Amino acid sequence: MDRLWEEIQYVKGVGPQRSRDLHRLGVENVFDLLWLIPRAYFNRSRIDPIASLPLDVPVNIRGRVINTSQNRTGRGFHIFKAAVEDQSGVIVATWFNQPYLGNVIKTGQDIFLSGKVKDSYRIKELHVSEYEIMAGGDLDINVLPIYPLTGSLNQKILRKTLHGVLEQYLSHYPELLRPQIRNQLGFIGIDQAFQNIHFPENTEAYLKAKKRLAFEELLLFRLLLNKEKSWLELNQQYIIHQEKTELVNQVRQKLDFALTSAQEKVLLEIFRDMESAQVMNRLLQGDVGSGKTVVAALAMAKAVGSGYQSTLMAPTEILAEQHYNYLQRFFAETDIVIARLTGGISPGEKKLVLEAVSSGEINIVVGTHALIQEEVKFNNLGLVIIDEQHRFGVRQRALLSQKGQSPDVLVMTATPIPRTLALTVYGDLDISIINEMPPGRKPVKTRYLPRSYRQRAYDFARQQLIAGAQVYVICPLVEESEKQDLLDAVSLYEELSTTVYPNFRVGLLHGRMKSTEKEYIMQAFKGGQIQVLVATTVIEVGVDVSNATVIIIEHAERFGLSQLHQLRGRVGRGLRQSYCLLLGEARTNEAIRRFKAMEDSKDGFELANEDLNIRGPGDFWGVKQHGLDELKVASLIRDGDLIELSAKVAQMVEPELLESNLLSSYIANKFKKNQEIARN
Ligand code: ADP
Ligand code: MG
Repeated sequence: MDRLWEEIQYVKGVGPQRSRDLHRLGVENVFDLLWLIPRAYFNRSRIDPIASLPLDVPVNIRGRVINTSQNRTGRGFHIFKAAVEDQSGVIVATWFNQPYLGNVIKTGQDIFLSGKVKDSYRIKELHVSEYEIMAGGDLDINVLPIYPLTGSLNQKILRKTLHGVLEQYLSHYPELLRPQIRNQLGFIGIDQAFQNIHFPENTEAYLKAKKRLAFEELLLFRLLLNKEKSWLELNQQYIIHQEKTELVNQVRQKLDFALTSAQEKVLLEIFRDMESAQVMNRLLQGDVGSGKTVVAALAMAKAVGSGYQSTLMAPTEILAEQHYNYLQRFFAETDIVIARLTGGISPGEKKLVLEAVSSGEINIVVGTHALIQEEVKFNNLGLVIIDEQHRFGVRQRALLSQKGQSPDVLVMTATPIPRTLALTVYGDLDISIINEMPPGRKPVKTRYLPRSYRQRAYDFARQQLIAGAQVYVICPLVEESEKQDLLDAVSLYEELSTTVYPNFRVGLLHGRMKSTEKEYIMQAFKGGQIQVLVATTVIEVGVDVSNATVIIIEHAERFGLSQLHQLRGRVGRGLRQSYCLLLGEARTNEAIRRFKAMEDSKDGFELANEDLNIRGPGDFWGVKQHGLDELKVASLIRDGDLIELSAKVAQMVEPELLESNLLSSYIANKFKKNQEIARN
């Protein structure tokens, strides 16, 4: 097994130069090389005769190069052409912008080409996607793998190296699935899977290999999550919260609205966890404004009513302050003592808070990540709540829970997560969803406007300002970047305050400001002293100003759908009709699709799925942090069923294997990034 971690440099036929190039492809050892998955294949068993090539579908040809030429078009494109002949006829093959091909492809060569035939001005040309020059010493197989290349590497070298590596090292590769389970689930063995992903005999063999390796990745990821989870649960002294507490009833009676049935449902799920002898590890998902904070506050009431302390951690100062103020009001008529630990308090105040938290005088403390500092000590912490969980890592969550004896943990997010992602990124959590809005909310009317309509958007917002409402203007960057003609918050602020809205009070909020400044501005906006708030995405999550009815988002094409949806959630929080204006350049189909989705859908889960389909999983919070963007075979979009299966199968892996160093190094090698993050 250890041989799998042997450095790539010492593998036969590699050496220092090629090993440097392989490093650039992320290949450091034998294991990595096995996981260097071909990006395509050449199927030499399926050759199409040149005389009868169909248009616009993938074709393979084999023939002799009879002529080559290089050209530059008027617009500066470089075109390389080769005329290729087989027994049936001749076709011109073209490559764009690869000038070095002149030194590679030569008259007289025997060549394979894949691509599509295009009809340009009645002349048929093959637009080449892959080429392969045939020569003596080739592997005698039909399907050839095509690898990503860099530097001195070429296909032949990689094929040969992999051929050797499979022969020499594959027997050292660990098999996680017993034959019985494999047969039952229809998976081939791991060694066969590697053999066939690199050198498949046919499509069927390739598909089976792909399925097994996709499953392998997901299974390993699941085992990693399980490890983290068991680490979280290491401490066995569970907290059992009381079933009935007077405090919960007391605050519930004071609510001036009825909880939605979705809120009731998740509250029940949370309470059941809190009352049980198991540690709660629950994720509460709900669209912006769906009423998560009320649910969290009631859970805190239960904890305090049961004699425990509770803490709420938020990712930004602004949010922490807002939660603090909310809870103060929420618990105004109770004896609950609430404090905050944020950058906004004085050292003297901080000292007092720390003392009172450790003595137990303070029941609830709200704060930013200042809460996980060493100096913060609780008397008897029973419930930890983390807002916008995706902004924190697993480690931070664990550090906060370690301030108590296995307190229950509730993490909340307003970023809707597609189900397949929730099962992976948040796979160590149980999930509760609020899928219903409080009654009476008017959906935010959303329109996309090209940049040239900017003034109209501002005019529209002016009408709302005159009617007494407030306006957000959001832009993506903080400082002017010379390269891109992006509006930055500062110059936008200047423009809006002097020329566009000289008669209104305009404020500016961005990430580089001091937290006291930020808070001052935010309070002024909340209080109505500021009417137009120019801001970067620091206001993205949770900020609640119900008098704001318009949000204008500049350069909207720069944001993902989920983020746009988050931003839109800043308005529509009161009774009046609200509006979201997306200013941008819809230059690509993708951008058009995204703006259309924003106009049509108000459902965060729907938009998240759409985002996943359009942009792929990389943009979702947690995907990169967990190393899931390193998945080589599995797809977070398409492999939902394998993701679920992997959770079940993870329970069946033999305990000795689970405990072994082998599995640890296996996981460590597979999810390198993840391990780095976990170590921090
Ligand atoms: P979230 O945290 O999910 O964004 P909040 O808990 O901040 O949502 O709730 C948004 C607003 O809706 C708050 O002003 C809250 O008081 C109000 N609210 C919450 N639940 C209800 C409900 N069931 N009926 C009416 N208003 C509600
Ligand atoms: Mg909230």
